[in-house]
Amino acid sequence: MTPEVRSDLSKLTGYHSAQVDVDVRLNTNESPFALPAAFTERLGEQLHSLDLNRYPDRDATVLRSGIALLHDVDLGEVFAANGSNEVIQTLLLAFGGPGRTALVFEPTYALHSHISKITGTTVVSAERGGDFDLRADHVAEVAREFDPEVLFLCSPNNPTGGTDDPDVVRAALDSTTGLVVVDEAYGQFADTTALDLRSEPGGDRLVISRTFSKTWALAGVRLGYLVAAPGVVAGCQHVALPYHLSALTQAAGTCALEFVAEMENQVAELVRQRESLWSQMAQLDLELWPSRSNFILFRPTTKGGHDVWQDLVERSVLVRDCSSWDRLDDCLRVTIGTSAENTRFLEALKEIL
Ligand SMILES: *Cc1c(COP(=O)(O)O)cnc(C)c1O
Repeated sequence: MTPEVRSDLSKLTGYHSAQVDVDVRLNTNESPFALPAAFTERLGEQLHSLDLNRYPDRDATVLRSGIALLHDVDLGEVFAANGSNEVIQTLLLAFGGPGRTALVFEPTYALHSHISKITGTTVVSAERGGDFDLRADHVAEVAREFDPEVLFLCSPNNPTGGTDDPDVVRAALDSTTGLVVVDEAYGQFADTTALDLRSEPGGDRLVISRTFSKTWALAGVRLGYLVAAPGVVAGCQHVALPYHLSALTQAAGTCALEFVAEMENQVAELVRQRESLWSQMAQLDLELWPSRSNFILFRPTTKGGHDVWQDLVERSVLVRDCSSWDRLDDCLRVTIGTSAENTRFLEALKEIL
């Protein structure tokens, strides 16, 4: 007989995002663009010089130096791992765990509470306001009540799309003694970042996590990182597995950093597409929320959300079905794709509604 998993895990369900075979895939917030041909060529060249018979640089020094340069911080302020999900897991292994608490504001990225639970961290959830925004006084009040070891913010917030005001981050830092993590997986799509707040009081407890999965069009590579005080980075290095970041991943990330301008062009194009899609969706029978990200949350007002999702799949368009999530009754989330993909989505949606 198979032994049972830890009893605290048995109630947890895994991560579910349908991987259905469709023409238009707008459900996981990936970039719709291919990488620049010059990137693939550069990476190909580098592969020839990798000693894959050897373990990789355990500290990923070249990659982390490149990221540090990008953000004008020191090498010791950057920790990298296999996707920002692993960054979050590492943080929680080091700073969360049994007897410790993580605070999340729902609805938000499900993996914050999910990974917390997997690492044995107690999760306490508070609620976002009516429009899914966060108010500084509310955050301060909840943070004081629970004084969590780790407080998660997500800006822009997945799946609702809005950003947090700097005062929200300040309120969180002022009201706890623990870490304040701002997940900026979609940071480049917005015009604000918490990186600037690191020099303010409490900034040594501020952690900003980012990923190459969305803006860098490298979801398949699995690379994410955090920027934080050296003590936080040291804590993460303490619990990370030796050689956790493969030589291939390190090479791909280092190579990507040579193409910042191309990435920024793609981001600008997606922001234009987002604004255009949003204004066209606003003409339809939908409730929709402003987005500073590469996705739009919407709720059909004349039909059930899950039915619309199913009707879209039948037209070979896949979006994220959030209709069963807390406070997101009937809501769907569409990722911004190429102009052609967005048109396909919009035409299908018009037909269905
Ligand atoms: C997509 C996403 C991530 C992702 O992660 P990777 O593990 O880097 O692919 C992290 N945070 C949020 C809010 C996301 O939406």
